[in-house]
Amino acid sequence: MTQRSFELPVVGASGRVDHPAAAAAFNADVARTEWHDASLWFVREKRDRAASTVPGWEELRARASAIKEHALTHLDEYLVQFEANATRNGMQVHWARDADEHNRIVHGILSAQGASRLVKSKSMLTEECGLNPYLEARGIEVVDTDLGERIVQLRGEGPSHIVMPAIHLRKEEVGDTFHDHLGTPAGLAEPNALAAAAREHLRQRFLAADCTLTGINFAIAETGGFVVCTNEGNADLGMALAPIHIASVGIEKIIPRVEDLGVFLRLLARSATGQAVTAYSTHVHGPREGQALHVVLVDNGRTRQLAREEFWRSLKCIRCGACMNTCPIYRRSGGHSYGSTVPGPIGSVLTPGLDLDRYATLPFASTLCGSCTAVCPVMIDLDTQLFRWRQRVVENGHVSLAKRASIDGATRVLDRPRLFRLLGAVARIGLRILPAPLARRAAGVWGRTREAPVPPPQSFRAWYRRHRGGAA
Ligand code: SF4
Repeated sequence: MTQRSFELPVVGASGRVDHPAAAAAFNADVARTEWHDASLWFVREKRDRAASTVPGWEELRARASAIKEHALTHLDEYLVQFEANATRNGMQVHWARDADEHNRIVHGILSAQGASRLVKSKSMLTEECGLNPYLEARGIEVVDTDLGERIVQLRGEGPSHIVMPAIHLRKEEVGDTFHDHLGTPAGLAEPNALAAAAREHLRQRFLAADCTLTGINFAIAETGGFVVCTNEGNADLGMALAPIHIASVGIEKIIPRVEDLGVFLRLLARSATGQAVTAYSTHVHGPREGQALHVVLVDNGRTRQLAREEFWRSLKCIRCGACMNTCPIYRRSGGHSYGSTVPGPIGSVLTPGLDLDRYATLPFASTLCGSCTAVCPVMIDLDTQLFRWRQRVVENGHVSLAKRASIDGATRVLDRPRLFRLLGAVARIGLRILPAPLARRAAGVWGRTREAPVPPPQSFRAWYRRHRGGAA
């Protein structure tokens, strides 16, 4: 169902995403791993400072969570209300069951108007639907206009982060990409000069576009309007210039009332980048004069997720990216290692719902430290949901034979106290006499990236008996 516009190196011959292998490949470049980690942690700290300036931040999170839960449990009503009000406002509303239907609808709108040049902004949903390759195969030129997204598009990659799509790249790599595709001087890596080159390149695409496609951050049932948040103003420029505007939105982005917006706009930018507000929060209530405005409401697996008692709360997500910025695994493995449109903790909760076998490694891409849950502005219990997906993965037999064997072996040992004590004694002796590298090798994959523990002189049971005098 989920398609990408490029081949993911993380997908093995089995068609499964191998997150550990992809993370290991990312980690092989130590310098990149370190600055990737540091850059995201810098954003996480900015988020903390921004949140600390808002009195009642925790109450705001609870309010946002409650609004989203209410909207999701009344989604049927609010979607219909949105459709009626949007239609009254002069928009044409379309419904797409899945990615294919979304792409067919978009292509149909373009074909009907003879449009062949599309500028796109702020839409991870179209990434999820694989819209770019679908349209390109039908002769449509598609240009992503968010600077980071344009960089990765030129490189034939996908975004590695939902808010900072090119966070995995050094400015020198961006300079090389622009040199190859935009003809900038070789070696140019000064950020302002690169931004100027991108602006010049994109301006021509904006002026020539027949159609603009944007995402939607919040669709408001009460008014039939919607809000698009960007920092670059690219969505606004596209909307202001193109004769056709298509806005694609996942059905979970509905909020009931206009007064709810204030809650989310205060949380979104602070959680995403530590800004007080996004540079452009554009409210759309209908088409410009002479412009056609289409809204495509997309399901693509969302109602299936909504029906899952354990996971429906993941649909509260407002795509701020805070859970990625704080996640120690994401920061040290890079967004591409997840092999999914949405990476990081929320991606590891959403994507297994699309195809559990293919994405079975993702729920394990977490330390379960709970940092993601602590920062999430809509209070999604991400660590709990990751843990539940692990249980579903094991129950459905989507674990490797080696992992299955070690889980079964551990279960047998932990079920038998005598055997546990015996093996504990053997392990303590082994750790004492084996050289550390050999001990790590004996621990298999687990030991490859860990220090061998210092063996205690005795078991905990023996220590307890001696010091507390009880029968442990
Ligand atoms: S799960 Fe929460 S923290 Fe992560 S992107 Fe969504 S809203 Fe942001």
